[in-house]
Amino acid sequence: MDIFTKVVEPSRLSIPTNSVADPIFQTSVYSFDDIEEVDQLLGGQRQGYSYTRGGNPNYDSLAQFISGVEGTEKTVITSSGTASLLAGILALRPKPCTIYLAREIYGGTVGICRRILEPMGYVTKWVDTHDERVFAQLITKQSSLLIVESISNPLGRISPLDKIIAIAHARGALVLVDNTFATPFHASPIEWGADLVVHSATKFIGGHSDLILGIVTGSTERLSAVQELVDVAGFTPDPFAAWLALRGARTLAIRMERASTNALELAKALESMPCIDRVYYPGLPSHPDHEVAKNLLRRGFGAIVSLSLRGGYDTVQSMIRRLKLVRFVPSLGDVSTTLSHPVVASHRELTPEEKNAVGIDPSVVRISVGIESVRDIIEDFAQALS
Ligand SMILES: *Cc1c(COP(=O)(O)O)cnc(C)c1O
Repeated sequence: MDIFTKVVEPSRLSIPTNSVADPIFQTSVYSFDDIEEVDQLLGGQRQGYSYTRGGNPNYDSLAQFISGVEGTEKTVITSSGTASLLAGILALRPKPCTIYLAREIYGGTVGICRRILEPMGYVTKWVDTHDERVFAQLITKQSSLLIVESISNPLGRISPLDKIIAIAHARGALVLVDNTFATPFHASPIEWGADLVVHSATKFIGGHSDLILGIVTGSTERLSAVQELVDVAGFTPDPFAAWLALRGARTLAIRMERASTNALELAKALESMPCIDRVYYPGLPSHPDHEVAKNLLRRGFGAIVSLSLRGGYDTVQSMIRRLKLVRFVPSLGDVSTTLSHPVVASHRELTPEEKNAVGIDPSVVRISVGIESVRDIIEDFAQALS
């Protein structure tokens, strides 16, 4: 063969199947021996992979892992948490309907509704999901969809979702739960009756701030609609991101155990520090949803602690500038402790009135607690606030 032919020839290595770590199937497509093979594969009479937009072994490895920890039948991996939300919404309600958004929802979810779905004819309404009686009166539209988080961003609000989901179903609504903050370590919303559960695996599941990835999980029936959407719309991730996510996720339990223990200790310590107006952590008896959290969450209360600082924006700015260990990062879920400012980042999409209605003002700071020694984290906040 000529060099010009040799350089374009793909590898023909046979991949050993007993490697301990998954190989990365960084391929967009597969080659076949004859037409019949492809025809049977695309027709579904034969198992296998043909084109990575529709499936890849690295997605399957991660999907199997997630189904195992969430207690679900099937999981689909997408290119981001945002893609998972959109795929989940469109799979549950392909035709314009009323979408009820829980009051304390992530700004990006509001963005999907306002910028993509409302122009298509969907109608978005805010609902209170804390009081079952209030909720039962608000949710009136048949064939609607409720979107809610198991632990809300950023104030750690927790609704009695087992009861709320039953009420929603009784009124003909379907329910999509964003389980990003709780992770499968603290909650499996499918047990409360959720129709689909989504994650931003970018956060705690990946755990190392080195990938963007989403997850949709639930029953086989619901997930076949999601799978079709992801393939047809091209919401597919990169195989390497799926590989990285599974590598990170294998330490999910030990990270969450440590981070949630650290979070509780930090939250308690912060309560008596200078400049603190309020500490929001569902593990604290002072949190409005502490009792609900004890009922619904398992193994602790998660790794997100939020604060409201006296002196508002200016105090927040000086604290951020003085912190030495804790970095200012507009995300969460890293192994190290990071901090963000919801008004300018995660909740930017909300109007000032909407932010005020849920208590997210410039004095609020969100801490994503890591797995360091908690004494060092506490000391850093103590020196910055002193
Ligand atoms: C970050 C986040 C998302 C969006 O995920 P991306 O991976 O950034 O697209 C969705 N929901 C919650 C609660 C998040 O924190």
